[in-house]
Amino acid sequence: MTASRFSSNPGPAEWPQTADAVIIGGGPAGTAAAWALERAMPGLRIALIEQGGQLGMGASLGSLENFRTCWAAPCLARMMQRSLEVFQHADEELHPGATATLSRKQQGYLFLAFSEQGAAALKRDVEHLHDCGLTHTEFLPGSEVHARYPWLGERVTAAKYDPHAGWLDSNALIYAFAHSTQTTRFLLDVRDVRIVAAGGKVTGVATANGMIAAPLVLIAAGAGSREVGRTAGVELPIVVQPRQSFTTPWRHETFPADSPCIISAAPFPHVRPEARDGAIFGWEYRWNSRPSLPGEPVQEYLAEPRWPMERFKDPRFPSVTLALLARQFGHRAGEGFADPRYLRGIAHRAGYYVSRDHTAAYHTDSNGVRHPYHSQRAILDAWPGIDGLYLSVAHVGHGIMSAPAAGEIIAARMLGNPLPDPVYADFSLSATYVEHDAGGLSLPS
Ligand SMILES: Cc1cc2nc3c(=O)[nH]c(=O)nc-3n(C[C@H](O)[C@H](O)[C@H](O)COP(=O)(O)OP(=O)(O)OC[C@H]3O[C@@H](n4cnc5c(N)ncnc54)[C@H](O)[C@@H]3O)c2cc1C
Repeated sequence: MTASRFSSNPGPAEWPQTADAVIIGGGPAGTAAAWALERAMPGLRIALIEQGGQLGMGASLGSLENFRTCWAAPCLARMMQRSLEVFQHADEELHPGATATLSRKQQGYLFLAFSEQGAAALKRDVEHLHDCGLTHTEFLPGSEVHARYPWLGERVTAAKYDPHAGWLDSNALIYAFAHSTQTTRFLLDVRDVRIVAAGGKVTGVATANGMIAAPLVLIAAGAGSREVGRTAGVELPIVVQPRQSFTTPWRHETFPADSPCIISAAPFPHVRPEARDGAIFGWEYRWNSRPSLPGEPVQEYLAEPRWPMERFKDPRFPSVTLALLARQFGHRAGEGFADPRYLRGIAHRAGYYVSRDHTAAYHTDSNGVRHPYHSQRAILDAWPGIDGLYLSVAHVGHGIMSAPAAGEIIAARMLGNPLPDPVYADFSLSATYVEHDAGGLSLPS
């Protein structure tokens, strides 16, 4: 492996005056694009600009770092299948030694039901996934769940199991992408990025550190993408939602280290083992979208991200998530998720989910009325009207697990190559509706 070029707050001597492609944002989306661009066109001179002092300074910091393959929309299922191939063959696909750094664990995802109605819904979902070709997903009746995972208790009525799912070290993944490229310059700590365009074409990027002339520019700045787009005079059709997670250094004795990631029933609190004795929890609840400014209405989505993220860390989040899990599992005070030891030494984080807004995700009924919906599809496409401007944005709650395929899709777009799979056309800006694309952790509609 040839060392990649990293510089922090680069001066004129280190500053590339020109590049074949500039990537704005050094999270999973930006670094995966660098990896895939160079693979598709060896020797391409890429400059990646990151405002932070290191890569991966956005939503991935708050993430649960999970991956799963049970997606009902074919474009998402294909994307995750391809990304998993990369995770499983990281030494060949990324760089020698990458497999060890990723610390991949494939212990599965277990979606639980606590009622007969919930069990029936999971059964229908698994039948649908099998019809889509995802025959590795399993419906487990209550008796099977109790036999395999007795520690989950008697309340569970059924489960959907994705045996290929798991988790990895997202920071290691970002750096594995970075280290796999040999012609990318990583320009860290670079502020005030502005896209420069003339005559309907991108001509480069201006920053506080200097200008880079380039014919191709990719916006991959996560929640900062709308602001970056505005520097080119475009308003990207994305919104953000604050989300939280927390890690505990302790987990109850019966919750084993080899447990799958548990996705509990609606409203879907989830938890998996973390490190030796800990656990990591998430819950996509609505209160955390509450703006911090007094008097403003509660909004589910924000068009403008607010910084710092700290303001969205609801101090009640860990205890409420644990209480919800304890209620669902029937744990009494002092037992299981209701054990107060969970509340000691918590690391609490927040980050933004970025998704398509109502102009980029809607279906139209027979009367011609548009119905916006919460799409899970990223935008991986050229921006119309400005030649050379591309987007890898709106990765919602799965931008780590989808990063390899997302990188390959946007690289194909930028280089004018055919898409790696025709189904990936569903990630274009103009694909405003795709069946089975809503839902997140809940069952797709
Ligand atoms: C609580 C939570 C849990 C999650 N759990 C999972 C999970 O289990 N699995 C999964 O796959 N995904 C998960 N996600 C989602 C995942 O973290 C995101 O989808 C992913 O990080 C998006 O990648 P990105 O590169 O688009 O954006 P980001 O990760 O936000 O990275 C954007 C980068 O661009 C930089 N940047 C921003 N503005 C500028 C600018 N103007 N100039 C230069 N650089 C800029 C930022 O500093 C950052 O480094 C979770 C997210 C949250 C918040």
